Amino acid sequence: MKNKSQGINTLCAHAGELKDTQFKGAVSPLYMSTSYAFEDVDVKRYPRYFNTPNQVALAKKIAALEHGEAALIFGSGMAAVSTSLMAFLKSGDHVVLQNTLYGGTSNLVVEEFERYGIAFSFTKDLKPESFEAEIKNNTKVIYIETPSNPLLTITDIAAISRIAKKNGLVSMIDNTFASPVNQNPIDFGIDVVIHSATKYMGGHSDILAGAVIASEAHIDTIFQLAKNFGGSLSDYTVWLLERSIKTMGLRVKAQNKNAKKMAKYLEKHEDVAAVYYPGLKTHPDHELAKSQMKGFGGMLSFELNEGLNASLFQKELKLIKASMSLAGVESTILSPTLTSHALLTPEERAKQGIKDGLMRFSIGIEEVEDLIEDLEQALVSLKQLAN
Ligand SMILES: *Cc1c(COP(=O)(O)O)cnc(C)c1O
Repeated sequence: MKNKSQGINTLCAHAGELKDTQFKGAVSPLYMSTSYAFEDVDVKRYPRYFNTPNQVALAKKIAALEHGEAALIFGSGMAAVSTSLMAFLKSGDHVVLQNTLYGGTSNLVVEEFERYGIAFSFTKDLKPESFEAEIKNNTKVIYIETPSNPLLTITDIAAISRIAKKNGLVSMIDNTFASPVNQNPIDFGIDVVIHSATKYMGGHSDILAGAVIASEAHIDTIFQLAKNFGGSLSDYTVWLLERSIKTMGLRVKAQNKNAKKMAKYLEKHEDVAAVYYPGLKTHPDHELAKSQMKGFGGMLSFELNEGLNASLFQKELKLIKASMSLAGVESTILSPTLTSHALLTPEERAKQGIKDGLMRFSIGIEEVEDLIEDLEQALVSLKQLAN
């Protein structure tokens, strides 16, 4: 399936597209039917079976983008995460997970796994040895997420894949933050790649969706559960997502460029205590990031100096919106202490390296000079308020 002859923007624009043979229209026709006549072959088309024309076409595009054999499209990123994990885990099994995961994923594990009799361990840090140390006789899955949220830490994808193969485990990665434009984990030996397509694939903050990419065999295992769990995406949204992905390469490359400029600007700023961006030479895992990423992404975080209030800072921003979501064409910012990590105690946050002045920044496609100007005026107002 790996298509080495075509570049990312060509794949985004064309891979998997449906042909309009009737009217020769430029875009994939949309087939909204939930009922299809039985065919001679043994295929019953039905949206919850993930096999309508639009679902199959978009799965082909996403599989091509991630250099995988096959894919499934889900109704949300969490439907993709939960179905993938549960497909390879049963009562009595154990899973090793990275300690810094998307909040929804750690909630799924911590709140739901016990009653299914599935044991789990979170690693103490991101070193490959720390993953290996948690493996038990009944471990079946190893699960990572890189770059991570909100501190943009980097996990060694190739090393984790090797550990998984050596121990006969299924390796899974949440590749949402990087997007398929910047990182293709299957090239580094990962078995199952998961995306919240709500983020860079959708890219316009108007679609909730998820995707899983893997070998035909692994996708079939996931499908057997997925059709029973019922987490498929409506064909209309599948069609919209296909349209969004056409510009993903352009968007993400613009976001990479903006984020790098922004990180360099923030790094020199007197009001900023720290910047976390894997594209900076000062990032502790910059070399590792360079070895497995083609671009460093549109996500970064930074710490305001002590005494500068995150909540007031957000309020002073005019162009950049304070918002929970990320990866849209518009820049958004949030304080993890006030939102995603608000339920943790200050000690738990400190343990994860999350200070009160930390801001998670999703860089959009605006002109970076305009974003910098907005930050400047917000910092000036903030300091005036403080005095
Ligand atoms: C948003 C997100 C998810 C969950 O996706 P939904 O589409 O909101 O269900 C999973 N992982 C990461 C890294 C995310 O950012």
